[in-house]
Amino acid sequence: MEKDYYVCTGCGMLCDDIEVESEKNIVNKVYTACRVGVAHMKEGRESAVFRVDDKPVDEATAISEAAAILKNAKNPLIFGLGTSTNETQKLAIELARKTSATLDDTSSFCQGRVVEALLQNKFKVCTLDDVRNKADVTIFWGADPSDSHPRHLSKHSYFPRGTEKQRGWEEERTAIAIDVRKSHTAKICGNYFFQIPPGGDAEFIDALIAGLSGKLPKTSYNFPPKRILELANILKGAKFGVVFVGLGLVYSLENLEPLIRLMDALNEKANFHLIPMVGHYNMRGFNENLFEETGHVNSVKFEDGTVKHGPEYSIVESLKTKTVDAALIIGSDPLSSLPRSVAKNLLEIPVISLDPCETLTSRSAKVYINTAISGVESGGSATRMDGVKVNFKPVVETTRLSDEAVLKKIMEAL
Ligand code: SF4
Repeated sequence: MEKDYYVCTGCGMLCDDIEVESEKNIVNKVYTACRVGVAHMKEGRESAVFRVDDKPVDEATAISEAAAILKNAKNPLIFGLGTSTNETQKLAIELARKTSATLDDTSSFCQGRVVEALLQNKFKVCTLDDVRNKADVTIFWGADPSDSHPRHLSKHSYFPRGTEKQRGWEEERTAIAIDVRKSHTAKICGNYFFQIPPGGDAEFIDALIAGLSGKLPKTSYNFPPKRILELANILKGAKFGVVFVGLGLVYSLENLEPLIRLMDALNEKANFHLIPMVGHYNMRGFNENLFEETGHVNSVKFEDGTVKHGPEYSIVESLKTKTVDAALIIGSDPLSSLPRSVAKNLLEIPVISLDPCETLTSRSAKVYINTAISGVESGGSATRMDGVKVNFKPVVETTRLSDEAVLKKIMEAL
């Protein structure tokens, strides 16, 4: 009998080989997924909740109240969508156009600039399948996939046998970690762990570029030049190399110029690709969908048929300067994740929260609708961390509306 495989939407890897056993719409057993994926696939089973001003209401009241908030706002903020399908994201862009909204997602304070640069062809890219089949040298830079994407090393980047890498890890692959601490991934990399001080990434990049061209690598923190030269030699010998860029590296660099220079230098000597370690399962989808529509990956403001873009339209700046007067938050909890000095301004404006889970944001929202969990209770498509499109179907049925269905209803009510 042919097996039914599901896609896990627990992180940006979108593993598509998940098997589940379910009964009466409850997932009892999950096979193949990691611990994060198992917990994610077993979420759900909540019934639909609609709340206005902390009181239970029916669906129609919640939808019309949400539509009224957006209609009355001069500059609403639409934010989130990293855990929404491509279809929902495209609807949200349409809604932002219709309501002259500011539109942003978490990528404005994490991987957005890396994704933007690769969409502008500033880096050579490849897929995770290429990594499994061909990669002989992988660098985890400021990234700890053993914790953040638990199947990364086993499914794609280190342990598996691939078409051109029949013997798997150690014998045919070299995994390198560059980080400020000895993470779980760094421990697996053994002697190929290079510990640098916080904020020392740009200097290490310069030293490595010097090493690649046979010059003496120097850093102000006296990283042993011999080790950098050893690293440069390994990288020069790579037939198919990949740099996995984590948040540690992104946060450490003021801009991406050093990283672009490094990738160019690596490609003068060898064959190197870049993949951003995207956390939320469809953050890259949001970036790509918005880029297709506007030429920008986040932080935009729609106005009179035009699109403005800049850091002032990010959620952080919009709230800091109090330029937005309402907010529709989809699958995100900015009240928990943003600094309190910024997040507190959300409490001064009417907020609509669409989220499968109760969060600090949903609990203080004027309108709350607990939507279905995409990938578990509703289907659609998403874009994996490496840009590959993945379709998925729901595992169980629910009475909860998908965020896509809620957005459609709000748009009809506007
Ligand atoms: Fe799900 Fe990510 Fe774990 Fe794969 S690695 S099973 S996508 S949580």
